[in-house]
Amino acid sequence: MPKRGLLIVISGPSGAGKGTICKSIINESDCWISVSATTRAPRAGEIEGTNYFFLTKEEFNKKIEDNDFLEYVEVYGNLYGTPKSKVEEVLNSGRDVILEIDIQGALKVKEKVDDGVYIFILPPSMEELKQRIIKRGSETPESLMTRFKSAYEEINFISKYNYAVINNTVEEAVRKIQSIITAEKCRVGRVKDSFFEIKE
Ligand code: 5GP
Repeated sequence: MPKRGLLIVISGPSGAGKGTICKSIINESDCWISVSATTRAPRAGEIEGTNYFFLTKEEFNKKIEDNDFLEYVEVYGNLYGTPKSKVEEVLNSGRDVILEIDIQGALKVKEKVDDGVYIFILPPSMEELKQRIIKRGSETPESLMTRFKSAYEEINFISKYNYAVINNTVEEAVRKIQSIITAEKCRVGRVKDSFFEIKE
């Protein structure tokens, strides 16, 4: 059986830049990024099955009932969830899996998967975070403020994570995450399990 892949959870407040970082990591490595399901409407340019699986509330609730999600949360009135079986399948094939999810979801995964790697992405500064949320432009002024306030509060959860990476530049953040992945693979526990495995 191939060695199980690493589950890497990349999380942080909305606007910290985790999406851009994750895109860059998957372009430069063999990691697989999980595609979440959501009830949110697609934004311009978003593609079904690539950015998200866009579901109705009924479809999403059916998946909750069927226990199809590793975790799911409601964010600003929309549901988001990580499909469980695909993540398991890819991890079992030996490939590393990245989940780019919000903080509530990451903490739920952490309760279930204790050998995952939990990375918190911080914006360069709180002012920069506010500007990034505004620049996204797809929100009303009220929802921008809600997002900023909740991002501010969420940063307190950083202590639950294994690593924190400040997103000064995408290149630097990606390099740091790649170093974290390399270091995690050298943990004695992980090396020992595979090194001493004897094929029958
Ligand atoms: P957006 O609507 O901007 O695409 O995403 C809103 C937030 O939901 C982001 O912080 C994003 O990382 C998070 N998110 C996306 N997919 C999932 C998921 O499957 N589970 C959780 N918990 N959060 C998700």
